[in-house]
Amino acid sequence: MCGQSGGLDITLPNIKLRQITFLRSLKGRIFLILLVVGLIPCFIMRYAILQNYERRAVNVRTSDISTQVKILANHLLTYHYLADPSSEVINAELDQLSNLYDGRVLIINADLRIVKDTYGISQGKTIISEEVIRCLSGESANKYDRENGYIEMTVPITETVDADLPVGTGEKVEVVRGVMLVSASNDSIIATMNSLDRQALVVESIVGVLIFVMTLAVSKYLFAPFKKIIEALDQVQEGYTNDPISVTDCLETEHIGDAFNRVLGRMKMLDDSRQEFVSNVSHELRTPITSMKVLADSLITQKDVPIEVYQEFMTDIAAEIEREDKIINDLLSLVKMDRTSADLNISEVDINALVELIMRRLRPIANRRDIQLVYESLRPVTASVDEVKLTLALSNLVENAIKYNKEHGFVKVTLDADHQFFTVQVADSGVGIPEEELEHIYERFYRVDKSRSREIGGTGLGLSITRSAILMHRGTIKVVSVEGEGTDFTVKIPLKYIAV
Ligand code: ADP
Repeated sequence: MCGQSGGLDITLPNIKLRQITFLRSLKGRIFLILLVVGLIPCFIMRYAILQNYERRAVNVRTSDISTQVKILANHLLTYHYLADPSSEVINAELDQLSNLYDGRVLIINADLRIVKDTYGISQGKTIISEEVIRCLSGESANKYDRENGYIEMTVPITETVDADLPVGTGEKVEVVRGVMLVSASNDSIIATMNSLDRQALVVESIVGVLIFVMTLAVSKYLFAPFKKIIEALDQVQEGYTNDPISVTDCLETEHIGDAFNRVLGRMKMLDDSRQEFVSNVSHELRTPITSMKVLADSLITQKDVPIEVYQEFMTDIAAEIEREDKIINDLLSLVKMDRTSADLNISEVDINALVELIMRRLRPIANRRDIQLVYESLRPVTASVDEVKLTLALSNLVENAIKYNKEHGFVKVTLDADHQFFTVQVADSGVGIPEEELEHIYERFYRVDKSRSREIGGTGLGLSITRSAILMHRGTIKVVSVEGEGTDFTVKIPLKYIAV
């Protein structure tokens, strides 16, 4: 018992899964659409034809019986059958009628007494039925009992007599002398209908099979281009080819191919930039190590090295270690910035205080080269930002403005805001950036003047980190620079952080 239910548990979800897969496939949907479109008219036609046939057949039979019954009613009167039901001629006619329609005939006189029953069971009995009583007042009635399969008909036996009026008026009236109650079997109609029904069922089955075959043929024809595109995608995925995908059999596959080629192009670009980044990282990390090794080797290989040389080399090695440390720190910052903006730690921050703190930290470096550090705050600003990331971004800008400045130059930081954004402008009187280099300065490891940047401890990652941090805050960064005159960075950030 247990085993059985276990078996069911496994198969039921499988069947369900197969049903869902079938309905999700275009093939399955086409099959269902064709089935509905093909079979529903068949069902409607079958129903309409059968209904129509039944109505017509019942009408024809009723009118046949009615004609015969009326003729017979006249004969009954001629033979005074209601008074004396012994007439063999009439009895034979009545039997013939009941045999013909596989039914029963009752002749009832005006006293509701059954004069003749072709079944011979109710003769002499009195019948009290609504239809018979109504019929005695001249109203004939037909009834079709579908469930029991017979037609019942009550027909008055009427005689035309002179009206009970003064002699000579010649008026005639109809007098009901009795009732003929005929019930006729409907079996032949039902048999014909069953046969029609069976034929319709055969037609429906043939239509069903045709639809199935058509679905197979249509789907094979329609899905051939999709099959091709899947094969082409598989080939790209398995690495057999890098060629662009082109299946021009139909417009849809052409569009899919184009879209995929665009995605592939972007993926290749990302892959190239990743590879370039990795090779840049390795190169940048190796450079200080190589310098340290050269310095250390020369100390090891030389004999009786004076202490001054030792001190000088060790100072250089310490500088290289510091440099390595800076590169690693910058890389870690960059990795953090590369994560989604969900990693932002947003809080209400006093931006004036934040900029002042940055300036205070960097002032000693500026003082060393006699660079004037000016801060102008046009209004108090509070904004929802990630304090750590924004500090890093603005520090990089101010630090660069000092680093790439001339002796006795100046750096001016201006903070302003409107009702939506705050702006931080960092302007310097430094070396400037050539116009053609401006579009590259945010790239990782990009330096305008490699040797100068290295000399002053640059890693080429600072602006990249700054840009990422600002974009995470849904802000913008713009640069204007004139070579030899100075550079002007403007950062614009929304006062309220907009989460997507
Ligand atoms: P680095 O660590 O080398 O400073 P950044 O990404 O911060 O790297 O800057 C990229 C390059 O842009 C720098 O190497 C420098 O040549 C140039 N640059 C950045 N800021 C300034 C500036 N204020 N004035 C002149 N050049 C700048």
